[in-house]
Amino acid sequence: MFPVIFTRKNFVMMVRPPVSVAFLVFLFFCLSSFGQAKADFVLYNAKVYTMNAGFQTVEAVAIKDGRIVELGKSATLLAKYKQAKKVDAAGKSVYPGFIDAHAHFLGYAHSLITVDLTGTTSWEDCLERIRDFINKKSLTPGTWVQGRGWDQNDWLVKEFPDKQKLDSLFPAYPIFLTRIDGHAAIASQLALDKAGVKAGQELVGGKVETRHGMLTGILVDNATDLVERVIPDFSAIQMRDAILQAQENCFAVGLTTIVDCGLSRFDVAAIDSLQKKGELKMRMVVMLADDPINYNYYLARGPYKTERLNVNAFKIYADGALGSRGACLLKPYTDKPEGQGFLLRNKSYYYEVARKIYNSGFQACTHAIGDSANREILHAYASVLKGKNNRRWRIEHAQVINAADFGLFGKYNIIPSVQPTHATSDMYWAIDRLGPDRVKGAYAYAHLMNENGWIPLGTDFPVEDISPFKTFYAVVARQDAGGYPRGGYQKENALTRKQALLGMTLWAAKGSFEEKEKGSLEKGKWADFIITDQDLMQCKMEDVLKVKVLATCVQGEFVYEKRGN
Ligand SMILES: [Zn+2]
Repeated sequence: MFPVIFTRKNFVMMVRPPVSVAFLVFLFFCLSSFGQAKADFVLYNAKVYTMNAGFQTVEAVAIKDGRIVELGKSATLLAKYKQAKKVDAAGKSVYPGFIDAHAHFLGYAHSLITVDLTGTTSWEDCLERIRDFINKKSLTPGTWVQGRGWDQNDWLVKEFPDKQKLDSLFPAYPIFLTRIDGHAAIASQLALDKAGVKAGQELVGGKVETRHGMLTGILVDNATDLVERVIPDFSAIQMRDAILQAQENCFAVGLTTIVDCGLSRFDVAAIDSLQKKGELKMRMVVMLADDPINYNYYLARGPYKTERLNVNAFKIYADGALGSRGACLLKPYTDKPEGQGFLLRNKSYYYEVARKIYNSGFQACTHAIGDSANREILHAYASVLKGKNNRRWRIEHAQVINAADFGLFGKYNIIPSVQPTHATSDMYWAIDRLGPDRVKGAYAYAHLMNENGWIPLGTDFPVEDISPFKTFYAVVARQDAGGYPRGGYQKENALTRKQALLGMTLWAAKGSFEEKEKGSLEKGKWADFIITDQDLMQCKMEDVLKVKVLATCVQGEFVYEKRGN
């Protein structure tokens, strides 16, 4: 409001206003649009799952400047926002954009420029794909060949391969192939030579495998770093193209936010710059790798946040994975009585890190698979959290929990962050590793959810597929795509459809302190949503894996629209 001061001049103007036609037209325009609500577009004729506290559905949403300004009935919003663009959802279902609470987005981008070994059925199959990759990319001798995704548990011969064939078939290429879980790898002799790896070499938290005193090429956990650190980086242009391709693939399955676990400050800088250029529209939450460079840089500065980037956590590793028997168990492996896995660091390290992070504004998120690793981390967290709190410190995977330890999640408000497709990928052999009693405390999602009343869900891609629909299906049906096992695997730990949706949206946002800005479709929140061809809450369970995303919208911008059928 302007203060009204009557000077002689404007008093005269009020008595004798200088009226012109242009002014009258302007005045009319102002008055007619006065009080008319403004929006950029109204999405209507939809079944919008708002994911609000009452789990309400509405027909329409009005969006302005990337945010939701109103929700309600189609007729009401169309009448109220007359000038807004109209987007007809044709009666389809609308959900908040999916959030993957634990994934490796840059790792996935990376996988798009390396040999994809996921789904291979034998070691020979892997060799075939390497040959195709070298030929297709016309790689010159001496170029590093990297691959990822092999899993000997899926093969007829369920043993680790050895490097012999790599050396005889591709002697001119240093080759490094990471196992699906990232906790083991096989390297060719040329790669081992470049890294200076020798038979008999010992190291903490890892193993250089030998047979009859000779290197087999298999490297477990920390031993993989020996080779990884001598592999040259991809070029910036290669990485940019791969990241944008990864983003396109993620938008096509409805992901609008990804929590990327274990990045460096340099990765963060690359993401930030691609976002600022407007090329990377994906929202990213970053867990920084447990590395002195990251601690030195970030602990002094505190969390970093922009509209699309949130660097607020550190990712620590307690142990390896169950598949490669690197998970740290309280008792020996059922199928390998001489081993029970190991912690990747000395126990005291986890207590020190917990203290260090507690005094900063960051979250601690620790990878723990085995029941012993989970117990250690729960105790290390408890030593600084003391009791109830809102720090939302997380255990990533929380895969095998001893019956005596579940209560610690609730007692200290420690958040289990789980990836339901791990249950249905591992269910064929988890019982071999753990035995019938211990396996009951594995993949115990419902039990874990009850501890705090909420649970964030993710995929861990590229360890698993990127599709959130697979997460939804795995956690609700607890079956594989073929409907095995009938009745579901350890079904007592299934979540309901509503809980599954919450886990992929609002609870996933909450896992990174972002529930006030996204994760549900409510007034004031970002307009991040997807439109699907079927209703996830209503469709037959067996149809969940066929659900297609028709459109994905981030911050009011349609970033993906499905073409054709
Ligand atoms: Zn992971």
